[in-house]
Amino acid sequence: MSEEATNSPATGLPEENDLLARARRMLPGIVSLRRALHRDPELGRHLPRTQERVLESLEDLPLHVTTGTHLSSVTAVLEGARPGPTVLLRADMDALPQHEDTGLDFASRVPGAMHACGHDLHTAMLVGAARLLAERREELAGRVVFMFQPAEESGGGAADMIEEGVLTTHDGDSVDAAFALHVTTRFEAGTLHLRPGPMFAASDRIRLTVRGQSGHASAPHLALDPIPVACEIVQALQSLVTRTVNIFDPAVLTIARIEAGTTNNVIPESAELHGTFRTLTPDTRRQVRAGIERVARHICAAHGAEAGIELTESYPPLHNEPAFTAAVEKAVAARLGRDIVYALAEPVMGSEDFAYVLERIPGAMAFLGARLPDPPTQNVPDMHSNRVVFDEAAMATGIAVHAAVALQHSRGASGA
Ligand SMILES: [Zn+2]
Repeated sequence: MSEEATNSPATGLPEENDLLARARRMLPGIVSLRRALHRDPELGRHLPRTQERVLESLEDLPLHVTTGTHLSSVTAVLEGARPGPTVLLRADMDALPQHEDTGLDFASRVPGAMHACGHDLHTAMLVGAARLLAERREELAGRVVFMFQPAEESGGGAADMIEEGVLTTHDGDSVDAAFALHVTTRFEAGTLHLRPGPMFAASDRIRLTVRGQSGHASAPHLALDPIPVACEIVQALQSLVTRTVNIFDPAVLTIARIEAGTTNNVIPESAELHGTFRTLTPDTRRQVRAGIERVARHICAAHGAEAGIELTESYPPLHNEPAFTAAVEKAVAARLGRDIVYALAEPVMGSEDFAYVLERIPGAMAFLGARLPDPPTQNVPDMHSNRVVFDEAAMATGIAVHAAVALQHSRGASGA
């Protein structure tokens, strides 16, 4: 993965065709929207103030706008000049339940809430893309659906929006392709990083209970001590991952919390293990899930203990469709310059609920570099840090990337 990209690649395209130049001109308005969102973060499914700001920002554009009934989503549809395919562009809008320590003058004014994952930038960029594409309606065949989504951090808002019909337009047309961006300080501002195939992992929660029998610590033979059984399970789960999972289709399993006992001389009745496992494909996900059940059940049985097993599915793996990914790379290279597009070497074991959309519709998600030019520290804080600071200039590239993807999809499918 290269770190050599420049912040301001010259595209060599005439000004009137240059999406990036237009995006840069609209940046001041987009930055002030982003800062308004940043100052006033909201959590979860109900984001009334955020929704209102998005609706206000889209007000003067020729869009068909609908809002969610079970969550504060906004769906806006732009009609192109000619019939053609429908492409969906998505931004998530929710913040995280954490205190902000950036010292920015537009830092969060809501105690215990912070836009620490850059969703404020995503939202502002998508508003910019709607504006830019509305100006270029004449070039557009088909439709663009702008999906403004609550509850990415928890709750799977994307799945709720699908249920409420975001993949079908108001007159019954279905979405053909979908695209989303995520900012990161891992890469230089204004660079795009993506890969075909697995991009984000599935995330599943583990809760195991080992039920034994309580007793005096000096007489374990009169009790059934759950603690050594639980320890054996932790070890065996690591062997499960390293000995049964194909290393080229990886899994990560972490038991992050063990809970048992109250004092030094009482054998407790039960022990609890809490953790998570991450996988990149549905097959490995099923395999690890079945393995955890088998290992926990049989180790408990071997010691005469009883196993309680709760494996809760969270977001599915996110898969970038190879042909669409190649089309994104081509469109961005052609319209914004070759030097901003990078192949992402490896997937990320974090998870993203845009996976629900990409389970149904071919498409892709990409990282947008948003690191400040001269970061003050070596270890630059990134997503979910209370000190993360993104370079707002990267939003111009994000707006232009969204627009380039929509125009390319419309063009490719209409044969223009
Ligand atoms: Zn995020």
